[in-house]
Amino acid sequence: MTLDDSRKLPTAREVDVLVVGGGPAGVAAGLSAARMGADTLVVEQFNCLGGVATAGGHGHISKYDEEGTGRRIVGGIADEIASRVVLGGFGVRNSHGIMFEVEGMKLLLEAMAEEAGLGLLYHTFFCDTVLENGAAVGAVIQNKEGRQVIRAKRVVDCTGDGDVAFRAGCPYEVGRPSDGRCQPVTLMFTIGGVDWPTVEKFRVDYQLKEVWERAQREGNMRPFQKTIMGWWWTPTRPDQVGVNFTHVTHVDSTKAADLTRATIEARKQAYETVEVYRKYVPGMENCYMISTPNTIGIRESRRIMGDYVLTEDDVKGQREFTDAICYGSFFVDIHCIDGPGMDATSWRPSRGFKYQIPYRILVPRGVENMLTAGRCVSCTHLALGSIRVMVPCIAMGEAAGTASALSLRNGVSSRSVDVTALQAQLRRQGAILSEDDIVKANQGQP
Ligand SMILES: Cc1cc2nc3c(=O)[nH]c(=O)nc-3n(C[C@H](O)[C@H](O)[C@H](O)COP(=O)(O)OP(=O)(O)OC[C@H]3O[C@@H](n4cnc5c(N)ncnc54)[C@H](O)[C@@H]3O)c2cc1C
Repeated sequence: MTLDDSRKLPTAREVDVLVVGGGPAGVAAGLSAARMGADTLVVEQFNCLGGVATAGGHGHISKYDEEGTGRRIVGGIADEIASRVVLGGFGVRNSHGIMFEVEGMKLLLEAMAEEAGLGLLYHTFFCDTVLENGAAVGAVIQNKEGRQVIRAKRVVDCTGDGDVAFRAGCPYEVGRPSDGRCQPVTLMFTIGGVDWPTVEKFRVDYQLKEVWERAQREGNMRPFQKTIMGWWWTPTRPDQVGVNFTHVTHVDSTKAADLTRATIEARKQAYETVEVYRKYVPGMENCYMISTPNTIGIRESRRIMGDYVLTEDDVKGQREFTDAICYGSFFVDIHCIDGPGMDATSWRPSRGFKYQIPYRILVPRGVENMLTAGRCVSCTHLALGSIRVMVPCIAMGEAAGTASALSLRNGVSSRSVDVTALQAQLRRQGAILSEDDIVKANQGQP
């Protein structure tokens, strides 16, 4: 929408930095900009911060360590969240990640926002980007008060789907190169009444392949899945397990009708799974459904093309960049696009694996004063398989919020921010950008 057209709508707020989407990337973008003194607002459609980690019911955040060595390669806000989960007594941490109670995470992220003076506007949906001379100057939002405009000097798109950059007309790609299809979507669910020590003894093979095969052979389960993608458990809620198992393929998550169909199907799968657990898994005979979350989990949608496109060769080749803002180290995790289980294009790295993430993948082409962070950044389908996990999303968000505030302070566009100054600021915030930082962060560790 043009600035002139936007003047026909009421102005809800005027801020320095507007962050659209309050998921892992948006939280970090908002916190870092606010901590640097920028008047910052996060707009979020749901009633909490955390995205997939809370509204999506997914109590597990990864990955903090270099593959196989246990050395921590991510710092800053991502590390702070992990420490505060443990301190708050609602989760546990190992070198790989954190497992936590979803409700505790909601409370923690709001406490961090309050401490930073970060503004939050829940129950509000982003609809359009306001542009002036090719630069983002705000967003059109919709809530119970109707359609309004938030005017902003800098905008960060943390919607996961790249809604803000898409509405600004930025180029983007979707899905695998052959046909644009994306990874399946998953509705998480939480069960109670679990005897975890007994389950632990039984689950020698974590994937429980035989259980699914038997359940399907005996007509107790449709063939929607064949591997456990995650069982998230924390000793702070010993009889509960968060289950990452449902799988719905061929979904375009930017279409409400597709999301509706997928959610209804996945909820059936979740209840079917609980029945299979009760029948076939020792320790789960008395388990029951506690909840399905507010939203279905989306692994892949629009990737907004930026000044650089991170490729699978960069990831697998552990490429280093002069404009590095953080590290990633997750395997190339591609769920089967056409059926159950994992896709053949997934790739497992060896010991010592990590790669740098460059600032330029946050800078969308064709628009000024806008950055992206999180799942919608500029990368290829296979690179996204690694970069999409929450720890790098948080680190990218921290870089985007910091860069937005710096660019305002120095009177330059988000694209032209002095990368050396950005890197210095990120390091002051405890971020890890290079081998020297890793060594320092791991000093004194066993
Ligand atoms: C089933 C599943 C399992 C996963 N497992 C793991 C795991 O074990 N470990 C791990 O670290 N990562 C995991 N991931 C990956 C990770 O959760 C996501 O890639 C990550 O959350 C992306 O962060 P984000 O902030 O970019 O987006 P999201 O977490 O999707 O957050 C986006 C936020 O923007 C809001 N939003 C979107 N559009 C609008 C709009 N138009 N208006 C207002 N608000 C809007 C959403 O409500 C949401 O809060 C998993 C993902 C899925 C789907």
